[in-house]
Amino acid sequence: LFGALDRQPPDALLAVIGMHRADPRPDKIDVGVGVYRDASGATPVMRAVKQAEARLLAAQPSKAYLGAEGDQRFTDLLAGIALGPELAASDRITGVQTPGGTGALRLGAELLARSGAGTIWVGTPTWPNHGPIFREAGLTVRHHAYFDAETAGIDEQAFLSSLDAAAPGDVVLLHGCCHNPTGTALSPDQWQRLVAKLAERRLIPFVDLAYQGLGRGLDADAAGTRTLLAAVPEALLAYSCDKNFALYRERVGALWVQSATPETGAAVRDTMLVLARSLWSMPPDHGAAVVRVILEDDDLAAEWRAELDAMCARINRLRTLLAAIHPALASIADQQGLFALLPIDAAAVEALRAQHAIYMPASGRINIAGLNEDNVARFAAAIAPYLGD
Ligand code: PMP
Repeated sequence: LFGALDRQPPDALLAVIGMHRADPRPDKIDVGVGVYRDASGATPVMRAVKQAEARLLAAQPSKAYLGAEGDQRFTDLLAGIALGPELAASDRITGVQTPGGTGALRLGAELLARSGAGTIWVGTPTWPNHGPIFREAGLTVRHHAYFDAETAGIDEQAFLSSLDAAAPGDVVLLHGCCHNPTGTALSPDQWQRLVAKLAERRLIPFVDLAYQGLGRGLDADAAGTRTLLAAVPEALLAYSCDKNFALYRERVGALWVQSATPETGAAVRDTMLVLARSLWSMPPDHGAAVVRVILEDDDLAAEWRAELDAMCARINRLRTLLAAIHPALASIADQQGLFALLPIDAAAVEALRAQHAIYMPASGRINIAGLNEDNVARFAAAIAPYLGD
């Protein structure tokens, strides 16, 4: 049976992690892995999370099964953060807990396939897992224009006009904020023009919001998503709490689906639950319970927001420092979130690793939070020869 299977290439990022770990040079720099790091290079458990975990440990009455929807109170409280109070109260939007943002994307993909959607459009470039997630659910993945390497910004004209090739009913995957891997973000005006294009072409948006609060702040990072949902009849929103609550391995996320009517929404919800049952039966509880405990308590919620704001401020401070060092990096200050795409090729990435112990994937994507105030100048000096004039 299994003889027909091919070997698969190892995950490129895991290979980078392995090489970095094995490198004895004391001044090595890891800008590869996509997790937040503090100034000491650590990815700590947030204080609000530690307190919520202590409360859960002391008071959790049972670990009996919940249901395919997971912790519904978690999803409802999180809706207030992600969607804002008005959309959170909409009777056309229904949400369930999922295993991380990946689970939300996959559940959304399965729902789309079950609903008869055939094609989803993703930008170039995008998070490398988007293609496999949608293809494995049976959808056709097509690519629309997005990033302009020349300006390290969004090529809005090319982006919008490439959507003219989409058929009515096709789905378009959008990054809600902090684009991975380019760090770009649509301005409020650009969101408006995108909404008009989606309406004109009758395309269905599927927003991936995995970094809320790590760009410009919680509300600012969700503003485009909210504008979009308020303007279109049908949409999907995959959400990850794994970065903004630093819960990565606990796998915390949610999927919301907006339907044209509340009646359709009821059938959508039933279908989401049936699909979830066959995918994972029910999502893991601990991380979502932690988020629920935080959001239920004003003091803990305030502490979480303050910690998140500090993480966001640190990323933006490093962005400013990096952008000031070389003209080719200037746009990094206007971008947001953990990532930026350096305008260097795979040979340069290889040379940086060999000569300077600087680690990133071959694409040139860097995690800004892997830098700190002490090594950012050395990093910039090392990459400068590869950046041109
Ligand atoms: N979407 C994007 C754009 C991401 O970068 C990631 C994580 N790297 C995810 C979704 C998935 O997040 P999670 O770890 O919660 O599955």
